[in-house]
Amino acid sequence: MTENPAQKYDLLVLGGGVAGCVLAARLSEDPARSVCLVEAGRDHGPRDAGWPAGLLDARSLPREEVWERHAPVHRVRARVIGGSSCVNGCWNTWGTSADHAQWERAGGPAWSAAAMERHRKAAVRQMGLRAVPDGELSAWSRAALTAAGELGYGEVDMGAPGGPGYGTPLLNAVDGLRWNAAFGYLDPARSRPNLTLLGDTAVHRLDVRGGRVHGVRAERDGARLTLTADTYVVACGTFGSPALLLRSGLGPAAHLREAGVRPEVDLPGVGANLTDQPGVFVPLAPTDGLNAALADKEARGELYGNRVLIRAASPYAPDGAWDLHILANAGPPLYGRLPPGRYEAGLSSFLMKPASRGRVRLRSADLADPLDIDPGFFTDPGGQDLAAVRAGLGIVEDLARSAALSPLVRPLEERPSELSDELVRARAGTYWHPVGTCAMGPADDPGAVVDGAGRVRGVSNLRVADASVLPTVPAANTQFPVLATAELLAEAVLRD
Ligand SMILES: Cc1cc2nc3c(=O)[nH]c(=O)nc-3n(C[C@H](O)[C@H](O)[C@H](O)COP(=O)(O)OP(=O)(O)OC[C@H]3O[C@@H](n4cnc5c(N)ncnc54)[C@H](O)[C@@H]3O)c2cc1C
Repeated sequence: MTENPAQKYDLLVLGGGVAGCVLAARLSEDPARSVCLVEAGRDHGPRDAGWPAGLLDARSLPREEVWERHAPVHRVRARVIGGSSCVNGCWNTWGTSADHAQWERAGGPAWSAAAMERHRKAAVRQMGLRAVPDGELSAWSRAALTAAGELGYGEVDMGAPGGPGYGTPLLNAVDGLRWNAAFGYLDPARSRPNLTLLGDTAVHRLDVRGGRVHGVRAERDGARLTLTADTYVVACGTFGSPALLLRSGLGPAAHLREAGVRPEVDLPGVGANLTDQPGVFVPLAPTDGLNAALADKEARGELYGNRVLIRAASPYAPDGAWDLHILANAGPPLYGRLPPGRYEAGLSSFLMKPASRGRVRLRSADLADPLDIDPGFFTDPGGQDLAAVRAGLGIVEDLARSAALSPLVRPLEERPSELSDELVRARAGTYWHPVGTCAMGPADDPGAVVDGAGRVRGVSNLRVADASVLPTVPAANTQFPVLATAELLAEAVLRD
């Protein structure tokens, strides 16, 4: 870690998460360009420098090194170099051609499925994404794959475009080791003299005047710091990026005044359009036989709760696409503990393309004040999101009754597809894939915050380049699309 940061760089990347690691690595490939990556959380150094065991263990979702330890689950986000790739489920899946059509309308031809293919492949290579090894499939996972076939689904490659079907995700994990974006992208770049990595450095705000950024006000070890650059690239994530723009006077003018911030550019879309994927978990009581099989797998160090999914279509999915992920889990519970030899099993219906929108707002201009985050689950006026999740719960019922899975669990005592609206809302959790709060869009879209190259409207030397720019969530887990997005936007920075 650099102890005495220089004051002036060619490029400042703000936020060292998934996108920030890609950007810092790609932008510093030319030794003539000085790049500084600024991250509020710790930089634990290269892979072999002794990272905390909790962040490395791909079998669980750690709650260390996050922004708010005791916040509601939908707010969880990492505060560490590598960002949420250090705390996430290590699943990598790709979306539909309908996703790309939406992005292309918002950002231009660079966002088409064909044009993004090389960025998708670059992310696979650089992160070392790999197929689930056979040994990581439990008796439950194998039965779930068979059950999906029984229901008429065919096997698909989850890491590539295609149609509905069943399969296993690509993993950024090797033998239980979570391989985060700092390992994949930063480690090969750490020794570059033109790249400065500043951990433990929280960005308070950008100093914006006359349509330009003139510097970054940050805090490091309790001391105030000002950093400057020719170009500023914000990659603080779907919650952090709009918050930084808002603290800097870039956002809906009325909200900024309420929060005590002087508006610099009235950008109504900043913090709006929050889109996340809700889902309902249906628990199924494992039989003694399944518990024993899982215990045996655990004793051999090969038990992973979650390795199988189905891409399924509700009646609202575009032709040939899918809008649901049906997950089959069996292993130690995600939260809490069970007695030794006992496990949690279940099936989930996640809505991948919600119509509902939430928002991120400031409570004040103070970075330390928790954000006001409303995921807006199931708020679409037509009730389509509830109906689509229910369609997925119907598939869950069929799977639970299938010849392959039913011998492993006790029969369902309820009909999840008939749950009341209130119960679906109450039981809904998040798939942790928020996007959309600094959405890209065409010049005539009043809600657009950035263009297809990540350039912020009305501020000439400022970009956003992370999950927040995606105007719609893909029908996928978001890490892989965000890696490809950052690859695309890094190229756009270098081109201009
Ligand atoms: C619990 C959990 C499980 C998930 N599981 C999966 C999964 O299995 N598969 C998948 O595809 N996706 C998963 N995701 C989502 C995936 O991790 C995100 O889509 C991805 O990390 C988004 O990348 P990003 O760069 O936009 O944001 P992040 O990776 O969150 O990075 C943002 C970074 O900016 C930093 N930052 C924020 N504000 C400031 C500031 N003011 N100053 C300095 N730094 C700042 C943060 O500390 C953070 O390091 C999961 C997410 C979570 C939280």
